Amino acid sequence: MVSRVIPVEPFDLVIFGGTGDLARRKILPGLFRRFCAGQMPEGSQIIGAARSDMDDAGYRKVVADAVGEFGGGRDCESGTLDAFLNTIHYVTTDAMGDGGWETLNGKMRDGHVRAFYFSVGPSLFGHLAERLHRFGLATPDSRIVVEKPFGHDLETAKALNATLAEHFDETQIYRIDHYLGKETVQNLMAVRFGNMLFEPLWNSQYVDHIQITVAETVGVGGRGGYYDKSGAMRDMVQNHLMQLLCLIAMEPPAKFDPDAVRDEKLKVIRALEPVDWHHIVRGQYAATEDEPGYRDDVENPKSRTESFVAMKCHISNWRWAGTPFYLRTGKRLKARASEIAVVFKDAPHSIFGADAGRHRNVLAIRLQPNEGMTLDVTIKEPGPGGMRLLDVPLDMSFADALGPDAEEAPDAYERLIMDVIRGNQTLFMRGDEVEAAWAWTDPLIEGWQTRNDVPKVYDAGSSGPEDALMLMHRDGRKWREIKA
Ligand code: NAD
Repeated sequence: MVSRVIPVEPFDLVIFGGTGDLARRKILPGLFRRFCAGQMPEGSQIIGAARSDMDDAGYRKVVADAVGEFGGGRDCESGTLDAFLNTIHYVTTDAMGDGGWETLNGKMRDGHVRAFYFSVGPSLFGHLAERLHRFGLATPDSRIVVEKPFGHDLETAKALNATLAEHFDETQIYRIDHYLGKETVQNLMAVRFGNMLFEPLWNSQYVDHIQITVAETVGVGGRGGYYDKSGAMRDMVQNHLMQLLCLIAMEPPAKFDPDAVRDEKLKVIRALEPVDWHHIVRGQYAATEDEPGYRDDVENPKSRTESFVAMKCHISNWRWAGTPFYLRTGKRLKARASEIAVVFKDAPHSIFGADAGRHRNVLAIRLQPNEGMTLDVTIKEPGPGGMRLLDVPLDMSFADALGPDAEEAPDAYERLIMDVIRGNQTLFMRGDEVEAAWAWTDPLIEGWQTRNDVPKVYDAGSSGPEDALMLMHRDGRKWREIKA
């Protein structure tokens, strides 16, 4: 297969927080893989900027270790790492003070794309934006990349948007949601809008319901302090699940253009009805003999923060009126598995009689593991003895269908960073989208607080609280099994 990669211009990329966990685990190894793939044009440079006192040689060692630990490219030739390290520099920079900024400015070159990655805590975003201007680093076409969490609620998100807007235009702000960088998520748009087969059926007349599941096996780990102030709703639903919901539910944009796509996503969020609190289930994982429970992990025996949430939502528009969307996400569940399942309605009449049972087409889009899609199709069970029906999946694993090309496909961070360099905002959240998402989740969170809602305890390694299963059972439906 011939891949068509859109070339990028030589760039200067500054990673604030370049010594941190995210930079070491995702950003730097990702950049190295793009370098191996020949996508980092000659003359580009990457500058780590953080508080630690270090020189270029010291930072190159940090980068080499990160690449060693978190993965290089499959086809990287020996010697490539040295060439990559030659593009790396470091400037000790204080986001809250003025130290290092003049030096950093001296490293920036005219005529190159400038991108500033804010891989630091959100309390520093405003300080960085202000200093980028004051010290003359920001040019009219510079870009800033902002990590989640983007606010804690509507008020803080608005304040953050306003602070960034003082220094940067919306077209320069790239709010990352790495779910949008996943191959399958983008493929969702290709499948919906590139085929004639699905779109005519993509509405409440033919779709019974849609399920979105993002299940993790890990607990909150070392992030307990942060997580307990956040919870599954803020940490996962407000951003990742909402983005998936938007892509599955939005109207076809007129073209594949950043604002056309984001306008349609925004309309979905605005059409979401407030959720009846009977239609939300929250949970916390219990301790096992070997592993601590949620409250132990966050060291808060009275915590009421949820590590699991499931809910039924409705989108009030012509296309989706009457089709429920069931969302669930949680930690310490039975498998690490994320998928979107579009469950179609029964055929209007069964010519095979009641004994043939109930059969439904399900289009399941797997985000992880093994990105791919399956379409359950009803066929005749082979063999004699009458007409018995069976659902079999038409299975398209990207790894099987696309071979080595799928393995070498850039991961979400790599793709998104390259989109920043290209100046393509399609897969980044716009400020108004983020605010609309908070405007929808805030009342739900406030409702729990007013009602003193206590999350249900669920067994680690299960599918979540029993009540979450009941949420579906009451509607005569059931969740798909969470399996890796
Ligand atoms: P981290 O604590 O590991 O790293 C923070 C970095 O910021 C360090 O390099 C540190 O030197 C730098 N820093 C802190 N204060 C500074 C200052 N005053 N001036 C200059 N540099 C300063 O954090 P992280 O896990 O890498 O997370 C960074 C951001 O990315 C956070 O907003 C986090 O929520 C977000 N994020 C992280 C992950 C992840 O997997 N780690 C995933 C999604 C989002």
